[in-house]
Amino acid sequence: MAALEFTRRYAMAHRLLATQSPKCAIPHGHNEYVTVKLDPLVPFRFGEANSAAPFETVKRRWRQWIDEHVDHALHLGEADPLIAYFREHEPALMKQIMTFQGDPTTEALAACFFLKLSAFVADEALPFAVREVRVEETPTNTVVIARENFDPAACGLRAGAWPWRADMSINDF
Ligand SMILES: [Zn+2]
Repeated sequence: MAALEFTRRYAMAHRLLATQSPKCAIPHGHNEYVTVKLDPLVPFRFGEANSAAPFETVKRRWRQWIDEHVDHALHLGEADPLIAYFREHEPALMKQIMTFQGDPTTEALAACFFLKLSAFVADEALPFAVREVRVEETPTNTVVIARENFDPAACGLRAGAWPWRADMSINDF
C-alpha cells in the first residue's frame, strides 16, 4: 500500500494563559487545517482492487471526528476558570470544550491529534502507522508533530486522557 495523506479544515477558539501574553489570553479564534500522513505497514503490491481499502475506514472516522466534534470547539487548559463558568452557566456547551493538560497551544493540539488518530488506527487494527500531523494555524504558522520528534510513550500526557481514547471525545468531563 502507498502512503496516505489527507487534509481537513475546522474553526476553533482558544486562549493561552501560561504564556502571559495579553494578546493570547483573550479568547480568539483561527481557521485551521490539519493534514495527516499515514505510512502503510505493508508495501504496495499489484492486485485486483489496487487501493488501500482500510484507508477509507480511517479517513471516514477522522473526518467525522473533525467535522462533528473538533470544528467550532473551544480549547481550554484544564485549569482555566472558564471551564467552571460553562459548567455552572452553560452546561449544554461543555461538549464543545476541548481540554488540554497545560495551555491549548498549537503544539499541544497537534500532539493530541497524533494520539487520537493513532488510537483510531489501532482500534480498527488498520495496517498503518501515523507518520506526521501538520496543523496550519495561520498561513504563516504551521506546527508539525512527526514520529521522529514525538514519542507517545514519553509525551507526559496522563493515562486515560481523551487523546488516547478511540472514541469521539474531546474532553474528560
Ligand atoms: Zn491563537
